Amino acid sequence: MSSNNRLRIAIQKSGRLSKDCQALLKQLGIKLNLREERLIAHSTNMPIDVLRVRDDDIPGLVMDGVCDLGIVGENVLVEAQAERAKGGQNAEVQKLSALDFGYCRLALAWPQELGPQTQNWFNGKRIATTYPQILKDYLRRANIDAKVVVLTGSVEVAPRAGLADAICDLVSTGATLEANGLMQGDTILESNACLIQNTNLSCPDKLALINKLLPRLKGVRQAKE
Ligand code: ATP
Ligand code: ZN
Repeated sequence: MSSNNRLRIAIQKSGRLSKDCQALLKQLGIKLNLREERLIAHSTNMPIDVLRVRDDDIPGLVMDGVCDLGIVGENVLVEAQAERAKGGQNAEVQKLSALDFGYCRLALAWPQELGPQTQNWFNGKRIATTYPQILKDYLRRANIDAKVVVLTGSVEVAPRAGLADAICDLVSTGATLEANGLMQGDTILESNACLIQNTNLSCPDKLALINKLLPRLKGVRQAKE
């Protein structure tokens, strides 16, 4: 459990979500002194600390109560929940709100020169991905017998490198797939960033602060519509 009365929020330190997370916290009225190298930033106007970590660590930090809130892509959240559930660990988290940034799709893709393929083609093939649990769940439901190859980066070069026949990777515009000579197939998950909360959070002061921030979040979202 987090050790003091300051609300702890985990966000991505550097990457696709960090700028939007920082902008959102600012719009919520949380003043921060964000120095690049610091892991923790203390708010100067509210009892809030912001932890800046790798996005992959955010679901676990919130599930374990190390942080009270977190902002993370649904793709990372769903994968972490499946992974933890498999290992018998607590995988519960309360989703407070979907956010209007970080949109991407987790989609299948294969070398363009093979042309369009049906689901059946994947039987017996190797598929490289950073999201093995989400992919395995999809394959199970689609009744496809394929081998899942786990890669934590450079998934899009796996077919060319001979590591896999196809990939299952995050796509937003499709430009990366095209640049790597890959054709996009089924989307297996659509994702946005979301705000999550530890399910056991009981500190009245922290809950009151969250209740003060949530209407502001709603206001920020409505102002953008
Ligand atoms: P970290 O160093 O924190 O582990 P990362 O390299 O895993 O960072 P990023 O590439 O910064 O992660 O992506 C963070 C999140 O941004 C993704 O998990 C996803 O939710 C979202 N996202 C939006 N568009 C894309 C995209 N085109 N490719 C990958 N992720 C995207
Ligand atoms: Zn990551």
